[in-house]
This record gives sequence, C-alpha cells and structure tokens, in this order.
Amino acid sequence: MEVALPVGDLQELFVSFQGEGTTVGTRTVFVRTAGCSLRCRYCDTPKALVRTEFAELHLPPPAGTAASAGGAGAIERLRNPVTVDWAAHAVGRLDPGAQAWVSFTGGEPLEQAPFLAALAPRLRPRRIHLETAGVHAEAMARLRPYVDLVAMDLKLDSVAHEGDRRAEHAAFLVACRGGDRFAKMIIGPTVAVAEVEQLAALVAAEERTLPLILQPETPRTGGSPTLPQALLEACHAAAARHLADVRVIPQTHKFLRLP
Ligand code: SF4
Repeated sequence: MEVALPVGDLQELFVSFQGEGTTVGTRTVFVRTAGCSLRCRYCDTPKALVRTEFAELHLPPPAGTAASAGGAGAIERLRNPVTVDWAAHAVGRLDPGAQAWVSFTGGEPLEQAPFLAALAPRLRPRRIHLETAGVHAEAMARLRPYVDLVAMDLKLDSVAHEGDRRAEHAAFLVACRGGDRFAKMIIGPTVAVAEVEQLAALVAAEERTLPLILQPETPRTGGSPTLPQALLEACHAAAARHLADVRVIPQTHKFLRLP
C-alpha cells in the first residue's frame, strides 16, 4: 500500500543571499513556512505568523533582464497546503545547479517537521539550514537527521517579550545534538545584560564552544541598528564569560535591501 507524503503550508520560496548567522553571504534558497505560535516583539516576518491561503514562488528575473526590469521576477501562487513534489520542483527552479544552501525558515519550520523531513531528502545535494525559535525539542529530534546546520534563537524576554523560555531552550539544545549548530540572540536597546549572561551560561552547560551570534535588532522602519556601543560591549562581555565563540553580526540583507 502506498503511503501518502505529508503536505505543508508555505508562505513563500525565493533565492537570495543568507543575511544572518555563520553562513552569511552564501547563496541560499529560502523555504518559508507559514505559521508560528510565538509573537516576538521584533518579528520581521509578520506575514508568515499565520497559515496563508497561497504559497508564493518568487522567480528571479531572466538572466540579462534584471536591470531593465527593475530586478523583479514573476510570482507564481499555489493554494496551501502544498505537496513535497511541488516544493522540491520549486527549489529546483530557483537553484537549477543544486549548489545553493536551502534555508527552512518561517514562521516556525518545526511546526511542520513531518513535511520538511519528507522534503529535505529531495533537495540533496544541497545543504540544509534550519532557522528556528529553539523551543520545539521533539520536532527538532525528528528533523535533526535531515538538517546540516541548526540556527537556534535564544529568546530574551527583555527584548522579545515572549516570557522565560529557558526550560524549552535547554531541552532543544539536547535535541539538536549530532551536527553543526549555532545560537543567536536578538538584542535591542531594552536588553537586560543579566539575561544575556543567564542564557549564555545555559548554552555553555551544553557546549562551551557552540558559536553564539549577538544580532543587533534592525528597526522595523529600516536603517541601521540603534544599540549603544557600551550596551553591545556589555552583552558581549557577559556572554564571553561563558562561551568561547561570541560574534556580533547584524542582518546584512537589510543593508543590501534584499529579501
Ligand atoms: S519565533 Fe520567529 S517567526 Fe515566530 S514570532 Fe518570533 S521572530 Fe517571528
């Protein structure tokens, strides 16, 4: 008997350059799932917080026409939920040479782990990057064998206003063992340095050499992050007391006005 593959709700697929984290600058196809149960204050993907009626495939402009066409390509829409076949074919159209990374992003991709577990093998030999809030340990354990790099957020209540997530983050760190991973904190002017230190210590209890990215919050209205240097220094010092590899990397795609 044939077993039906799971279907998934996607908000959009597009190709660009990775703007964040340890693989910044790499050519990447983004597969953005629709739906997230959190509501972080700084969320920059409000369009992907709820399930959407359609998945949008943003095709790049045909080669040689980008300048004259203003850089815009065609958009194809398919009603959600979409099949694994459709999503795999869409990624192939965005990256025919199969050389790019694929980023599962959202929304919260782990809220659709069965679909992504079925999709990931169809995307090889591309490498798979998972961008997640770092609170769904069970789904992470299921998806771990299919993912090359896990980028987990550490939610600071002083910045995200999403409550104390330390217990969920600790369980998640265990679930994402067995492959490359890094952690990321979004920090803004309201950040509590003591909270940065608490979360850095939590990560260090799992692995002292796990990279931690401090990502200054980009204002929703655009422009550069507005974090005072003294506060950035204090956050770095607090995290570096526990972790060996603490880096500061802003969202570069926003400077470049890329999706
Ligand atoms: S977890 Fe991510 S997608 Fe969900 S609300 Fe927070 S920032 Fe937005």
